[in-house]
Amino acid sequence: MLKIHSIETFWAHEWPGIRTVFFLQWCQFKCLYCHNPDTISMKWWTEMSDEELLKIVENNKIYFGKKGWVTASGWEPTLQAKWLTSLFKKLKNSWINTTLDTNWFVLNEDVAELLKYTDLVLLDIKHIDDKKHKTLTWQSNKKTLIFLDYLEKNNIKFWIRHVLVPEYTDNEEDIEKLWKYLQKYKNLERLEILPYHTLWVFKWKELKMKYGLEGIEQPNRESIEKTVNILKKYIKNVYVRG
Ligand code: SF4
Repeated sequence: MLKIHSIETFWAHEWPGIRTVFFLQWCQFKCLYCHNPDTISMKWWTEMSDEELLKIVENNKIYFGKKGWVTASGWEPTLQAKWLTSLFKKLKNSWINTTLDTNWFVLNEDVAELLKYTDLVLLDIKHIDDKKHKTLTWQSNKKTLIFLDYLEKNNIKFWIRHVLVPEYTDNEEDIEKLWKYLQKYKNLERLEILPYHTLWVFKWKELKMKYGLEGIEQPNRESIEKTVNILKKYIKNVYVRG
């Protein structure tokens, strides 16, 4: 049984096709800007079997066209790898593409098995500098970066996502450093910049949790363009996601 936080059956943004997204419960990071702070703990979830989830996907398959996908997001899908593998196997049998949207904190046998049934990995690199990564997420980035090697070695396609937070991740040197680190990976298909936004701050307040980025504004257009221009010197597939 998978611990599910919520489900989006018709996710049309930020993707070349319609997708169904399963947001899974539980995360070992504690990002200062988390947009789903209620997924961090193991408290708020609904247990669902892979058959139940498959049925939801099958009911929505009509909208998929040729580019329909199912994404396991949340966070953190790899923490429920064993159960997710069973679902992904069934999806692949139904010719449905599968994506993992992850910060990749775990790499074990279960995750390796899950990857055999995964078409695309969306990997979040919160910060390339380990010390700054810890400030932002309370965890090291070492496991996430090691995971890139695993993806490359096993020829698994991936996209990198990077949240642009003023004063935390928008430093020019860090952006250059991020690319220098990534340039060796041939399976990197695309780099996405996600401008930080404050839309979800209310959730922290509702949960009576202290919000760690109080007073930090959303990045302005100039800052977003500057970041994209730095990256575009090196890779043409750079996109800004709303
Ligand atoms: S990795 Fe995602 S779910 Fe986990 S704390 Fe960070 S933003 Fe929240």
